[in-house]
Amino acid sequence: MKNKGMLERALSILQRLGKEAAVPYHETKVSLQIKQILEEQNIEYFEDKYGNIIASYRNPARENSKPQIAFVSHMDHPGIEIISIGKSDLVGKMIGRTSDSIFTKPTPLIIHDSIGQTIKGKSLGRHSNSAETLQIMTIEDVIPILPAFAVFDLPEFILEDGKIRMRACDDLVGCAASLTILEHLAKENKPGNVQAIFTRAEEAGLVGARLIAHDELISKETIIISIETSKSIPGGEIGKGPIIRVGDAATTFSQQAESLLNLSKEHLKKREKDIQIQRQLMDGGVCEASAFILNGYSATGIAFPLAHYHNGLGESLIEPEFIDANDFMVGLDLLLETTSINIGDESDLFARLKSHPSELSEKLKRK
Ligand SMILES: [Zn+2]
Repeated sequence: MKNKGMLERALSILQRLGKEAAVPYHETKVSLQIKQILEEQNIEYFEDKYGNIIASYRNPARENSKPQIAFVSHMDHPGIEIISIGKSDLVGKMIGRTSDSIFTKPTPLIIHDSIGQTIKGKSLGRHSNSAETLQIMTIEDVIPILPAFAVFDLPEFILEDGKIRMRACDDLVGCAASLTILEHLAKENKPGNVQAIFTRAEEAGLVGARLIAHDELISKETIIISIETSKSIPGGEIGKGPIIRVGDAATTFSQQAESLLNLSKEHLKKREKDIQIQRQLMDGGVCEASAFILNGYSATGIAFPLAHYHNGLGESLIEPEFIDANDFMVGLDLLLETTSINIGDESDLFARLKSHPSELSEKLKRK
C-alpha cells in the first residue's frame, strides 16, 4: 500500500478524537481538538455562526489546474442530552437512533457537564411514556450542572485484529480522514484547493450541513465529498474496501462529482491491480451529501462499511462500532488521489463509453 505512514498518522488523529465525547448540539470537545490539530498543522480555518468548522488548504501558486473540493464530515454521534436534573434523578433525551435496549435495559453512561465534570451514570430505561426520554441516575455522588450530555460508556479507540473499534467511528473516522489529507497536502506543499468541513448536529437531521449549504459559505463550484461510515450491506461490505457512495436513503448523488472518485479509483488500480474499492448505493441512512445535493451543489461521498451502526441500531445490545483498518487505509489513498486530479482529466472507461463506436457501427449497418 502506498500510504502506510498516512494510515498511522490518521489512526493517531482518530485515537485523539476518540477521547473526546460529543452528541448532537454538544460538540465542543471534539471541535476544540479539531481546531487544535488544524493549528498544529498551520491550516487556516474559521467557524461559521453555528460552530461548524471550515478549514482550507490552498496552494495559490499551483491551484488553478485542480477542481475545488470540500470534504464533509460531522463531529457529533448519537447520544443523550440531559434535559432536567432533580434531587435524585436526571432526565435525558436520546438524540439520534440507537439500539432500543437503551429504553429497556440499564446502560452504562458517562455524563459530561458544563463545568467539565465527567460523571459515571446509567440509564434506567424509558422516562414516563415519552418516546425519546430516559430516566438516568448518577453512580458517583456528584450532581452534574446543566447544560450536560451523556455518551455510552464504551471503548474510545481500540485497534485490534485489523479492526478499529470505537464508541463513535461515525463520524470521527471522517473527521480524522479529512484532517490527515489536509495535513499531508500542506506538508508536501501540493497543488490544490481543498476544504474540510466539520459539521455539528448531523445526527439530529443534518442540521449543520443544511445550514452551511443554505448559507453558501462554500462556493457552488466546489465538489462536495461526504466522508462517512455506513452500515455494512451486501455489495458494501466490511473488509472489501471503502465504498464510492452512489447515494443514500434520500437521494442519488452527482455523476460529475462521482467521476472524480471513479478516476481516482482507476489511477489507484493502475498502480495496484488488486486494490479493493466498492461502489454502492448505501441506503442505511442519510448522509450530508444529500443536504448539499438538494441545495444545488455537486456532491458525492465515500463510506467506510461499519458494524454495529449507531452502537447497535436494530440490534439487542449497545456496542462499539467498528470498521476495517485496511478499508480505512485504502479510503485515505482514494481521497488523497482526488486532490491530484486535474480539471478535464477523464477516466479511460468514461472516454470509451462516450466515444462513437465507428467500426462497430459499420458492422451493425451490414446486418
Ligand atoms: Zn454519520
